[in-house]
Amino acid sequence: MSPICNARVLFKEFPGSDYPVVDQHLAYDDSQTVDPVTDPLDGGFLVKVLYLSVDPYLRRRMTPGGAPEESIQPFAINEPLVNYGVGVVLRSEHAKIKAGSHLVGFLPFQEYVILPNDDGITLLDSKPDGISWSAYIGVLGMPGLTAYSGWNEFSRAKPGETVFVTAASGAVGAVVVQLAKLSGCKVIASAGSEDKVEYARTIGADVAFNWKKDNTREILKREGPINICWDNVGGESLEAALDAAASHARFIICGSASNYNTGTPYNVKNLQLLIWKEIHFYGFLYLSLQPKHGPAFLRDMPRHVAAGEVKFKEHLTRGLARAGDALLDVLRGGNFGKSVIVVAEE
Ligand code: NDP
Repeated sequence: MSPICNARVLFKEFPGSDYPVVDQHLAYDDSQTVDPVTDPLDGGFLVKVLYLSVDPYLRRRMTPGGAPEESIQPFAINEPLVNYGVGVVLRSEHAKIKAGSHLVGFLPFQEYVILPNDDGITLLDSKPDGISWSAYIGVLGMPGLTAYSGWNEFSRAKPGETVFVTAASGAVGAVVVQLAKLSGCKVIASAGSEDKVEYARTIGADVAFNWKKDNTREILKREGPINICWDNVGGESLEAALDAAASHARFIICGSASNYNTGTPYNVKNLQLLIWKEIHFYGFLYLSLQPKHGPAFLRDMPRHVAAGEVKFKEHLTRGLARAGDALLDVLRGGNFGKSVIVVAEE
């Protein structure tokens, strides 16, 4: 076989405190080639990348000096972006990795990659019937684990309690909505468009509203008080949720999507309510909860998905050339479901 194009998406420049610009801060590059048959493996294995995950936190890797948490290092200039992905092994000289195996792990944004070892790679033995391997970067992967581990660790949910979930149609939020329903709770869901709101209802939300059109405070006042808040966005809706919280509410602070592209984060002004209402605030990173909850997640979530008890929706972007647009969609709320780049069909 003669060499074929091995396209990549490179990180070119730090975007400052605004949205990244495609072709300036990230760029599609098709100047490299790979020969899948003859390129030397040197004891490693050749992976054809099938799916790459687009997550809001990628924006935080575009900050010079990195984020406060050690696990989030800045991308290297002129190197491919890196994130969770699913691939299939084409050739291998590695003792544990066989050609034809599927795997999930941190993969570069490029079509083919030779990995020298299996650090950070998980082999996928099987998948639930009718489900794409891409689920392993969504509901069965990092976002699903985030929802599952955060919910089981912090919610202390009791049937009949009221839960408020923001970005409720997204990769994490949609799983939380369904876990809250499985726990017997009433769910109030917010999302940023009419079709996202409708989707939140179809996966079980009792009350769903469009935060861009409806008044979050009024809805929470009418439908609350809130016993559990799962917050993916921060900012004004978090402030409104604190005002609508019940005594002893649990706030699970998962993300702050409304702040990722702004130079000056929104300052929540009513934190004193933590004292008066004896609210518990839990910020967490899924990696810290993985050792405790990961095994149960791997056992339970495929079963829930296969049984249709946890549904999921993917927002597919075809081709690496559109990776920058996919990222902007996630940062602006243009994604409807888990954002996945389909790099190649099998
Ligand atoms: P989503 O699929 O939910 O995409 C992000 C969503 O955030 C957008 O679709 C949009 O939804 C919403 N959003 C974007 N900008 C704003 C804004 N200005 N104000 C309000 N909402 C906004 O992403 P994920 O499900 O992958 O992630 C959800 C959150 O969880 C993110 O904050 C992410 O960083 C965090 N996270 C945290 C982890 C942890 O370990 N703590 C691990 C994984 C994710 P809409 O249109 O509905 O407003």
